[in-house]
Amino acid sequence: METIYNFSAGPAMLPKEVLQQAHDEMLDWHGSGMSVMEMSHRGKEFMSIAENAQQDLRELVNIPQHYKILFLQGGASSQFAMVPMNLLRGKTKADYVNTGQWSAKAIEEARRYCTVNVAASSAEIGFIYIPGQNQWHLDPEAAYLHYTSNETIDGVEFQWIPESRDNIPLVVDMSSDILSRPLDITRFGLIYAGAQKNLGPAGLVLVIVREDLLGTPLPGTPTLFDYQVHARNNSMYNTPPTYAIYITGLVFKWLKRQGGLAAMEKINLAKADLLYRSIDSTDFYHCPVAKADRSRMNVPFTLKNPALDDEFLKQAEMNGLLQLKGHRSVGGMRASIYNAMPLKGVEKLVAFMNAFADRYA
Ligand SMILES: *Cc1c(COP(=O)(O)O)cnc(C)c1O
Repeated sequence: METIYNFSAGPAMLPKEVLQQAHDEMLDWHGSGMSVMEMSHRGKEFMSIAENAQQDLRELVNIPQHYKILFLQGGASSQFAMVPMNLLRGKTKADYVNTGQWSAKAIEEARRYCTVNVAASSAEIGFIYIPGQNQWHLDPEAAYLHYTSNETIDGVEFQWIPESRDNIPLVVDMSSDILSRPLDITRFGLIYAGAQKNLGPAGLVLVIVREDLLGTPLPGTPTLFDYQVHARNNSMYNTPPTYAIYITGLVFKWLKRQGGLAAMEKINLAKADLLYRSIDSTDFYHCPVAKADRSRMNVPFTLKNPALDDEFLKQAEMNGLLQLKGHRSVGGMRASIYNAMPLKGVEKLVAFMNAFADRYA
């Protein structure tokens, strides 16, 4: 069979080795006679799977003990509400930076719980760059500062970590670039990431949170939306998404075998450079995002002649290059090249794009 490369933005491709291992262990996990899907989350087998996943993540990112790792459900979207519910801590305002469609969603949800100060926004010219921090207007009374490190739809990514002042905790939605490069966890109060982009299957959202921020949720916060409850119960207050945790744990082990986050960054840079250089080398393709702020994970591009879009997608698919259609709100194409996408996949895409441009220019 020809090798297929899947450029979906999410749920996205997983490392082949991980899927192979899950396949091998599907009916009988480590001689237990059970599939992971059939195990009690409180049994010793699954407890060891969850424990290992946490430990491997701690090692990969170098997470100190005073940060809690939570495996929750409800997707990254649930965190748009859980963050203000838990982190306002008696305050009434929060700072948000608006750099794309996911930031905008987080802001909209936060407005249900507090006064949002939009410290900076690139909405007016269509989310194609990240405003420098010297242009931000932070509120000294904000309970926290929230930003989105990678805008999955718009293809803009922070290549730097914002400075937060006066011990105001920094909160980040890292759904689509977590573990794609080394990460200094100590700069953050809270990190969250839906799993289905760069970690594992849909159904799981990862939260890493500094312990001292827990314990003062808004009055009326549902039990299940209180981080402290999950932290105290080691993410086992209720049934966690067990199979998604298992697969994500396999992905952590895979990342360690690749050489960890520094090694991933090198590969991810090589992939992104190759693709952007190819797009920039011709006026047949165009990427609207400012060069300094381009995402290494999600590469949006348009064809000069949009009448060729359908033909491009059709021929790409015939060549084993799947799910390149851009988000419905942006149009054109989008190639998502997360950790699991090998360099070979990007090389094949670039070769196809060059040939297509030669033929139709
Ligand atoms: C996909 C995505 C979300 C939403 O994730 P769900 O799991 O669908 O709730 C939020 N933020 C970013 C940056 C995303 O890429």
